[in-house]
Amino acid sequence: MTDPAEQAPRAADLTALGRSLSGCRACPRLVEWREEVARVKRPAFRDWDYWARPVPGFGATDARLLLIGLAPAAHGGNRTGRMFTGDRAGDVLVAALHELGLASQPTSTHAGDGLELHGVRYTSPVHCAPPANKPTPAERDTCRPWLVREMELLHPTVRAVVALGAFAWQTVLPVLAEGGWRVPRPRPAFGHGVRVQLPPAQGDAAPLAVHGCYHVTQRNTFTGRLTPEMLRDVLRSAALEAGLDPR
Ligand code: SF4
Repeated sequence: MTDPAEQAPRAADLTALGRSLSGCRACPRLVEWREEVARVKRPAFRDWDYWARPVPGFGATDARLLLIGLAPAAHGGNRTGRMFTGDRAGDVLVAALHELGLASQPTSTHAGDGLELHGVRYTSPVHCAPPANKPTPAERDTCRPWLVREMELLHPTVRAVVALGAFAWQTVLPVLAEGGWRVPRPRPAFGHGVRVQLPPAQGDAAPLAVHGCYHVTQRNTFTGRLTPEMLRDVLRSAALEAGLDPR
């Protein structure tokens, strides 16, 4: 049985981290679900050989801006093996990044499609697709060492984080407190457009700006709760603070 708390700290870089977490089977319910989805499939994807494993973070290994979602989608990342790839959420997010000049192309359809992110990376607090997109608190906590290590490895370069949704916000703040930044008490509440500046816990390390943004779920984007303009505004502000040069 994989133990993320034991394995994640050993990863020397983000490539090793992705390799290690791709073999993780620490959450029995999620392992069963991700593999069941891959067996049953969606009719539109019946010719696909689903990834059906944990999905690592994707993008620049020296990212200045990190976007944090929730978990891979059952027929998106769990099918394609790449986060925000092959589903509506990825379509919306990558189109916005491309408009800002932070992605090489406006679409994200499969792992070999050539997409590159410029100075940006995205990851999630839970790396396996959960039933109904709802991981349990125990699953979130079990997966947490992977995110802690990813933040440690990005520490030298990352200057801004965008938490996509309340789950990401609530999960990442304790991780950042552990990772070398001072998080206010009580912890600030999630909201779209909320921004918090976290000073370094010690020394002359750089501060980190954390931005809240509604998640790019189909429900949020179809209902207009999150419009393309709202998404672009948050991403642009965060990118500027991260020292990137968005259009
Ligand atoms: S959710 Fe995280 S900890 Fe659980 S099996 Fe997947 S990768 Fe491992």
